[in-house]
Amino acid sequence: MGRGQVSGLDLELEHDRVELVSDPQTGLRGVIAIHSRVLGPAMGGLRLTRYPGLEAAVVDALRLSRAMTLKNSAAGLDLGGGKAVLVDDGAWADLALREARMRVLGRRIERLGGNYVTAEDVGTSPADMVAIGHETRWVAGRPTDAGGRGDPSAATARTVFAAVRAGAQVHLGADSPAGLRVGVLGAGHVGSRLARTLVEAGAEVLVADIRQERVADLAATLGVVPVKPRDLIFADVDVLSPCALGGVIEPRHVGLIRAKVIAGAANNQLADPALADALDAAGILFVPDFIANSGGIIDVGAEVLGLDDQEVEHRLLEAELRLKDILVRAADSDRTPWDLAVELAHERVARAAGEADTTAVREEIHR
Ligand code: NAD
Repeated sequence: MGRGQVSGLDLELEHDRVELVSDPQTGLRGVIAIHSRVLGPAMGGLRLTRYPGLEAAVVDALRLSRAMTLKNSAAGLDLGGGKAVLVDDGAWADLALREARMRVLGRRIERLGGNYVTAEDVGTSPADMVAIGHETRWVAGRPTDAGGRGDPSAATARTVFAAVRAGAQVHLGADSPAGLRVGVLGAGHVGSRLARTLVEAGAEVLVADIRQERVADLAATLGVVPVKPRDLIFADVDVLSPCALGGVIEPRHVGLIRAKVIAGAANNQLADPALADALDAAGILFVPDFIANSGGIIDVGAEVLGLDDQEVEHRLLEAELRLKDILVRAADSDRTPWDLAVELAHERVARAAGEADTTAVREEIHR
């Protein structure tokens, strides 16, 4: 694809394939975006969330699928980048309709012939993957009793915890998370697990979520400090861990964030990748999100790649070492972790594509 305008954004439409999904009978509306298949079948989760319109969903799918190419490549997986997003129209609570819609999507994925493999993401669950799996085998993340590896959130929380720990070690000289103040934004599958691990490691944990009952629950069971979502991002913490949705770090926040390290699970945390440099200039270490949260795709990707538990454990350990290595190399150079991580991801794709000169693709992916 060439250069194009989507929703006022001047995007280089380098995607391999983008398909609108629309089914008048069930009211299903969404997008499947395949960014790259250079390393293997495109893989990335299925997001179900509210969008102002289909165009916003397309933009999100384009960005998220591109981020999946980076993530899968940097994680050393032989998987390309893809993502599916569905528009939440408020009707998904009807379970029969939900099942019917998931099956329609499953048939669309089946027609892609294995070029895109889905799994759960924000708003979808292992049960949804079972429904999709009635129509296609190109699905992962089903419950263990349905032949899958189950919810990948524990593996995600594990690499995010490693990112918090490594970030604090490299940037703050902290030997362990004990005594650190960490703000966790989003108390969902990953955020709540991360909060527990941090509390167990002796950190003081502040938690915010728009669903106050989730925060109240963690306050009661773990003793975390409840904070309002709009306050957490500027809270007096050592580490900020965005574990809700993307785009949470905006240009106007840079001078106001008091955390010295940002390391979280959310995809595309930076509203603009150029913020990686701005944060660095402000003395804030930003651990690239696609490195910090790679545990999830390693876990769920194992189903597609046929990796057993031992191999998954090995790859998770490798991911933890890789992220520490990137942070150490950045600290010893004048480059940001973001820059080094993008380069790592890109060079693997470029090598697989057999390109001698990697500069052009690197610039493209860096935007
Ligand atoms: P989740 O849906 O279980 O939890 C997200 C939480 O964020 C919810 O509790 C929600 O109420 C809260 N939230 C939403 N908007 C908010 C806001 N504006 N302010 C405060 N809280 C808000 O999702 P999850 O599975 O925990 O994933 C969290 C993030 O990590 C997502 O961005 C996801 O894409 C990313 N991620 C998840 C995994 C995984 O394995 N689950 C893997 C990689 C990346």
